[in-house]
Amino acid sequence: MVAVSLQEGAIVLDPFSVRMILGLVTLTLIVLSYASSRRFRSAWTAWWRAALLLFFAGNFAFLLNGTTFLAWANPPGKALIVAGAFSIWAGARALRHRKISGWQLAPAPLITFCASVVDDAESSLWSGGLVYLVMTATGLGMAAAELWFTRSAQSRAIKFLSLIAALTSLYYLGRAITFVLEGPDGSAFRTFFGYAPAALMHLILLVSLSFTINALSNSHVIKRLRERAERDHLTGLLNRGAFLGLAEKELAGPASQDGAALILADLDYFKAVNDEHGHAAGDAALCAFAQACTASVRSTDLVGRYGGEEFILLLPGATQQRAEAIALDISRRLSAMADPDGLPYPTVSYGVTSTDATVSDLSFMIQVADTALYSAKAQGRDRVVGADSMEPLPTFHRGP
Ligand code: GH3
Ligand code: MG
Ligand code: MG
Repeated sequence: MVAVSLQEGAIVLDPFSVRMILGLVTLTLIVLSYASSRRFRSAWTAWWRAALLLFFAGNFAFLLNGTTFLAWANPPGKALIVAGAFSIWAGARALRHRKISGWQLAPAPLITFCASVVDDAESSLWSGGLVYLVMTATGLGMAAAELWFTRSAQSRAIKFLSLIAALTSLYYLGRAITFVLEGPDGSAFRTFFGYAPAALMHLILLVSLSFTINALSNSHVIKRLRERAERDHLTGLLNRGAFLGLAEKELAGPASQDGAALILADLDYFKAVNDEHGHAAGDAALCAFAQACTASVRSTDLVGRYGGEEFILLLPGATQQRAEAIALDISRRLSAMADPDGLPYPTVSYGVTSTDATVSDLSFMIQVADTALYSAKAQGRDRVVGADSMEPLPTFHRGP
């Protein structure tokens, strides 16, 4: 039963009940974290779960306070809580894709454990208390700093995490200072920094961290699904819909103030590759061409699979000449590659068009580039044809 009593005007919660509540809430959070993250596995959620487990184990050890097992339970209990704080730090580092090794994590819990063992562990609940409080504050403070400097699309949620970690770190610092000034039996320490207020603080920390981390995981899942929906499965390039959406935006945006160029590319006699060497050889050629494209353009250019063996590129700020040179460069790269069986990849025909800032109609550009591409095919393939005029060229009907 939860025992709440009024002692000298202050609400006092008994340690056992508070720790039981904290333990149950932590256990619930661990289960929820496992259940909700089946779709999403990452290093930082794993560290977060490790932190929850360590807090749970530390709290469990503290349940033995006041029993004959005090000397056995208290030093490891403190070390486990400190390890939990440093696991939050490790999780924050993982969020920034920074590695962490055992030697960075082990010292703080070890020092806490030793300080507690050598400092009257037999009879004092607070053996090594100062080291424990300072180490916990340090771990959480380091996590707060690490989170604060994390750049991410979900920066608001991460800043919130940082704030919670910073507040808890400051609370532990307050505990440490009051501990030094008046000891664990002082009235300020007992009122604000004793086991019950600290356990409540832990509850707030764990629940809000869990909630935010869950929200963060969900938005990562959504981002990953969106990325997958925008990419062509075989080549990894943008699919047609994503390319068109992004290209429209690009042409309307400031990056295309200096104009833009558009390239349509079509692999030559590609059907014959499939027919003679099999579908897998055809797929390998498509992937090789995609690689040649991405290697030839800037990261800010858009490259998409327009359909089948047709590809489309938008080069913001590029001139007609530059775009034609890029098309030649792609073919040069592709001809330098060979498929796994040593067969040369097919040649490619290109239609290239460009626009200045005043005209930026994507479908018109595609139509013009398509006409130029048809012309390249008609002239014998394996070449780049530029549509230097923005006047619509006569459209042809492609033959079967
Ligand atoms: P052209 O030089 O006139 O472009 O002739 P082509 O053979 O390249 O053109 P055609 O349109 O006749 O054939 C395109 C072929 O591309 C037919 C289709 O089976 C093949 N294709 C489309 N998508 C894929 C794919 O994902 N993988 C493979 N292996 N082949 C594909
Ligand atoms: Mg073709
Ligand atoms: Mg085609």
